[in-house]
Amino acid sequence: MTSLEQFEVWFATGSQSLYGEETLKQVAEHAKSVAKGLSESPRIPVRVVFKPVLTTPEAIRALCLEANSAPNCVGLITWMHTFSPAKMWIAGLTGLQKPFVHLHTQFNRDIPWSSIDMDFMNLNQSAHGGREFGFMASRLRIERTVIVGHWQDEAVQDRLATWLRAACGWNETRRLKVARFGDNMRNVAVTEGDKVAAQVQFGYSVDGYAIGDLVQRVDDVTDAEVEKLLGEYEDQYTISEELRKGGARRQSLRDAARIELGMRAFLDDGGFKAFTTTFENLYGLSQLPGIAVQRLMADGYGFGAEGDWKTSAMVRAMMVMGAGLTGGTSFMEDYTYHLDPKGMKVLGAHMLEVSPDIADGKPKVELHPLSIGGKADPVRLLFNVSKGSAINATLVDMGNRFRMIVNEVDVVAPDAALPKLPVARVVWVPKPNLPIAAACWIHGGGAHHTGFSKAVTTEHMQDYAEMAGVEFLTIGAETNVSQFKNELRWNEAYYHLSKGF
Ligand code: MN
Repeated sequence: MTSLEQFEVWFATGSQSLYGEETLKQVAEHAKSVAKGLSESPRIPVRVVFKPVLTTPEAIRALCLEANSAPNCVGLITWMHTFSPAKMWIAGLTGLQKPFVHLHTQFNRDIPWSSIDMDFMNLNQSAHGGREFGFMASRLRIERTVIVGHWQDEAVQDRLATWLRAACGWNETRRLKVARFGDNMRNVAVTEGDKVAAQVQFGYSVDGYAIGDLVQRVDDVTDAEVEKLLGEYEDQYTISEELRKGGARRQSLRDAARIELGMRAFLDDGGFKAFTTTFENLYGLSQLPGIAVQRLMADGYGFGAEGDWKTSAMVRAMMVMGAGLTGGTSFMEDYTYHLDPKGMKVLGAHMLEVSPDIADGKPKVELHPLSIGGKADPVRLLFNVSKGSAINATLVDMGNRFRMIVNEVDVVAPDAALPKLPVARVVWVPKPNLPIAAACWIHGGGAHHTGFSKAVTTEHMQDYAEMAGVEFLTIGAETNVSQFKNELRWNEAYYHLSKGF
């Protein structure tokens, strides 16, 4: 599983030397207690590290450059306790390669009406100090999140936590390695894309590996390792009669377990936290990896089917952003519709590869034929997903830029049991409704593959997209088609022109 424990955010307080030593000492004490208070808050997922108060351009630049090269630092929280003349920030901010959030807060929550004097006014100047800093960030055209409110306020801490999770996802994306077993599904368009452009924009690398090399790793797995993993399956899942010990198809489960162990070894040896497969490239593997992919996803490996590396990398980032939250994240596909006007909904699934991270209850392990691929029947985990709010996210390559679209959905119970459907499934109602959501998604060029999450929200994805500098579109309760189409047209112009800004 993924954990955010090792990550930290640096707390950078802006001031200037004008106020004298005594005031600066107080500024530092305040900043220390804000950083400590945030760090100790159970709402904040990473360590908040206090850094000495910044009063010169040299110190600001040095801190920014140090942050760039600190592997566990996911970004900066900037706070202007006093007035910090913003020309001092130019050298630092132009050199900063990590994201920053502007926390527009002040140490005291309330104005001390009866005791306020000019000393208090000189010390507590965030209200205008934050505006001077904000001007410079806007003047430099730097995307960032601005959070306004008292630092002890739960809503402020929750907003900060969202940003920090996005920053952890972004930190992961910058160093992620994606392994591709086989190429794209032949003739499919949306799973293609410019891998060089993706590496420039996101930092992750995407490389192909021979199925033969994976098969070698699968063959190297010992019988003892397979038996041990089967024991784990027995502990965690309800296994169908024919796959149980002494069952007629037990060998299929052994083969599936062997594939899981081989894939895991391959990924771990190469430092890959995301991967793709395709049913068109399985030479030497006895069955399409089903339960293997499902369980690897549940352990935090990003995944995209049919060679879909963009979705795989995005799913990994979503897993990091959602680490420790309830709900889970999975690769997903809009599979089939229920178009009854009284309650339109979508059935989401895939041929096999849905993560048990989103399962409601104990998954079942079953063996069923797969009508495509021409291989032995693949073993898969079967489950439903519980009700609640969720998102579907897509990342597409528009030729001149990457575009991310998020659709907010409500997971609902299926109208009836699905006794003959042999795959894990989710039923959802998209916001604002299926006709508008699907039309907007299609106008935006959104893929049939998505990252689905009950843990990650639109806000996480928007913060992440802004860190990545990619186009971001939301389809939610307020969306209508003509407004959405206008947004697409305006964005077309913006992203064309913004290269020259
Ligand atoms: Mn697919």
